[in-house]
Amino acid sequence: MLEVTNVGKAYGPPTQPIPVLKDVSFSIPRGAFCAVLGPSGSGKSTLLNIVGLLDKPDSGQVMLDGVAVDYGSAYEAARLRNAMLGFVFQSFQLLPRLPAWQNVALPLLYRGIPREQRKAAALAMLERVGLADRSHHRPTELSGGQRQRVALARALIGEPSLILADEPTGSLDSITAVEVMALLRHLNRSLDVTILMVTHDRDLAAQCDRQIEFLDGRIISDSVSPAAPRPV
Ligand code: ADP
Ligand code: ADP
Repeated sequence: MLEVTNVGKAYGPPTQPIPVLKDVSFSIPRGAFCAVLGPSGSGKSTLLNIVGLLDKPDSGQVMLDGVAVDYGSAYEAARLRNAMLGFVFQSFQLLPRLPAWQNVALPLLYRGIPREQRKAAALAMLERVGLADRSHHRPTELSGGQRQRVALARALIGEPSLILADEPTGSLDSITAVEVMALLRHLNRSLDVTILMVTHDRDLAAQCDRQIEFLDGRIISDSVSPAAPRPV
């Protein structure tokens, strides 16, 4: 599903580059729920921005669904982003003046889908995340956990193959964070959507299928969670 090969990235002037990602390689299969772990400044967001086609690598290659991403074409990057990716942020990034359903429907607006169809799809997706009764509320009328559910519905409505989530529970209290993690897991399994989640929280990362740990721009460990124990 996602193959990252020898990706390097540096910031700063070409004469004095400051490396942020160094020879990063990993691949994740379709349907995985994968955590990217590491302290602040270790390169997690830079990686997510590159995989999310918001930033270009200096070297290396990214493949999405078997196709090498052409970072040289802004048009192609935008097309792939809209067709294949869904984004979830720590700060939700909802439009405050729009009701929940219109926030969820936004990606369909960009695709030129008519209003009634957008609304029906948004309501169905809100139901999937347990917010059927909040579809006409604005973000300011919703709790943090409800806002993140709206953001998840928006990320999913375009039927992406990959969800990129940057500290999706970082603004939530611990109980709400557990609920949102459970919802992410449920959506991962029921929709067979692949999730790459950045976190600095080891306990959250441990709930994923796989933990890729960064330090100073390099992968220092890559481990698969043991399968959940079967009831005897
Ligand atoms: P993390 O998400 O793990 O906190 P980041 O990918 O945000 O790490 O940042 C890694 C390093 O790259 C940090 O030292 C940060 O200061 C630097 N960095 C990130 N973005 C930029 C940028 N646009 N320009 C210059 N330096 C940057
Ligand atoms: P934080 O986790 O610090 O609150 P975000 O997760 O909101 O930050 O944003 C992470 C990155 O995604 C930033 O580089 C930002 O520019 C980018 N970004 C934020 N909102 C959007 C959006 N709606 N579409 C595309 N990129 C975004």
